[in-house]
Amino acid sequence: MLQAKLTSRSSSEQQTIVHLSPSVAIGGQQITIIAGPCTVESQTQMDLVATKLQAAPVQAIRGGVYKPRTSPYAFQGMGVEGLEILGRVRSHHHLPVVTEVMAISQIPILVEQADMLQVGSRNMQNFDLLKELGQINKPILLKRGLAATLEEFVMAAEYILSHGNDQVVLCERGIRSFDTYTRNILDLGGVVALKQLTHLPVIVDPSHATGKRELVAPLAKAAIACGADGLIIECHPVPEESVSDARQALSLEDMIKLVHELQPVAAAVGRTMVQRQLVAA
Ligand code: PEP
Ligand code: MN
Repeated sequence: MLQAKLTSRSSSEQQTIVHLSPSVAIGGQQITIIAGPCTVESQTQMDLVATKLQAAPVQAIRGGVYKPRTSPYAFQGMGVEGLEILGRVRSHHHLPVVTEVMAISQIPILVEQADMLQVGSRNMQNFDLLKELGQINKPILLKRGLAATLEEFVMAAEYILSHGNDQVVLCERGIRSFDTYTRNILDLGGVVALKQLTHLPVIVDPSHATGKRELVAPLAKAAIACGADGLIIECHPVPEESVSDARQALSLEDMIKLVHELQPVAAAVGRTMVQRQLVAA
């Protein structure tokens, strides 16, 4: 990574902390969990997800309103209407929201309603988009390209930093290989390498990495055990009915259980997690 001037780690202490809100950050000692559906489907769906997950607790909620679908005939996302739902979730539930940006033209409205903009795998090397995102004051979640090398991934982040925005989180979400049993191959070696090579926070998406809900919790634990700063996980009130990525969605109950099960794993590697709020009887 010879040309990674701005993202390279110069010492073991150097660590960027990315702030989603005054109380939620990624990259510190505390593990950050982002969870929610693949796609925003309705206000009712998002309110239910937010209410249940806030108690888990998760620190931020995800949901796509502009969806990069393989087929042009598949549902493309709710667009502005979905964004308004996210805006209401953010203000009513006081949860930061993360949503995907696919085009430069979407940036102005997304910055109004979202706390972090996700660059999906398919856009990791959309350099014009990266340059524009480098000029805004909003955290960026940069997902690794479908078949991107670590160097290409880091250089994509470098595009954003070199245009002025240093609030970038890297996300390993699996890469293409020959075996199609899992949707992708989760590169945990890459996560460890990225933590050593760069000072940016690194989170893991075990949902898109595996494509199968029964594989999500074990890999989420493995990710935290190997040093990831957080997780982004898909879940849905009725997983089988998700309009996209149904096969990998956890139920809200399984998501809450997973957050709980991550606590000892985090503690074993010297990390902390936000504790569940105990409500007095
Ligand atoms: C998503 O987060 O729903 C998504 C499309 O992810 P990726 O870009 O990693 O495929
Ligand atoms: Mn998805």
